[in-house]
Amino acid sequence: MADTSTNLARLIRKEAARLGFAAIGFSSPLPQPVSMQRYTAMIQELRHGEMSYMEKHMEERANPGLLLPGLQTIISAAISYHYPVSYGDVLPKISKYALINDYHRVVRAKLEELLAAITVLVEGPLNASITVDSSPLFEKGWAEEAGIGKTGKNTLLKVPSAGSYVFLGEILVDREIRSAILPLPNYCGSCSNCLERCPTGALLEPGKIDASKCISYLTVELKRDFTSEEAAMIGDWLFGCDVCQEVCPHNLQASIAAHESFAVRQNLIGITTERVLNLTKSGFRELFYGTPIFRIGLRRLKRNARAVAENLKTA
Ligand code: SF4
Ligand code: SF4
Repeated sequence: MADTSTNLARLIRKEAARLGFAAIGFSSPLPQPVSMQRYTAMIQELRHGEMSYMEKHMEERANPGLLLPGLQTIISAAISYHYPVSYGDVLPKISKYALINDYHRVVRAKLEELLAAITVLVEGPLNASITVDSSPLFEKGWAEEAGIGKTGKNTLLKVPSAGSYVFLGEILVDREIRSAILPLPNYCGSCSNCLERCPTGALLEPGKIDASKCISYLTVELKRDFTSEEAAMIGDWLFGCDVCQEVCPHNLQASIAAHESFAVRQNLIGITTERVLNLTKSGFRELFYGTPIFRIGLRRLKRNARAVAENLKTA
């Protein structure tokens, strides 16, 4: 049995490393005024596009204690999906995170294993809950509080040695777990590659994004048909967009490789727009089941494919 908060943190870190997490940290659920201010500004300035779900659960965002009775610690964990992928001249492109098993299931399964280990380590009953994009939490804010990474000008969290190709998940527990936190440097410095190279100008200024202009939002989150302007904006991206990560020097230096659960589905690289447009429902299921792409459904994938096909024709 671990008897002190820091000893417990050390043992949890060890178990997390064994399970393949790239980083893990612990934070106290205090209010996050900076994250709250950024978030509300995004909504007030209508930079969240049509993601109306973002306007909900503001109370829980301000007070994560509402998410778990007796909450004392938010455990933030990051897992890498940083694998090499080369599209060559093959278009359209699919974001790296979508060429692999859906991270919601993988990360949750890993966090369940970690929680089982924590339950053995602590004394007495433990009240806990796992979240992977399933609770209104400022997950990047908590990850920063826990000292596992720093948010860059592209608005993405960068984890030392792992870069920004990471998935985040959290375990909320009613137990105090603390660990020394080393301050992380501002990684960006004078670099502004992401701001300069974003194809649509969605990065308005360092750390400020207009989601309604972002290709990831347009191809993944937007439910309706595109306007002609939106269709042109997605360029050659069939699903998601990695440009602001591809041009980030910290991802070129990242040394932690993708977790073994994230084997690339090679048959999705270079899938043609024509093939997508001819897919039946069962063909769509066969190709994409278990990937994040399956979540948007065939209708929206075909919408994206039609736009990309037109863009490639006129390029
Ligand atoms: S994902 Fe693409 S479109 Fe969105 S901010 Fe990054 S580079 Fe710009
Ligand atoms: S590309 Fe440069 S400015 Fe953008 S997040 Fe990476 S280091 Fe920061």
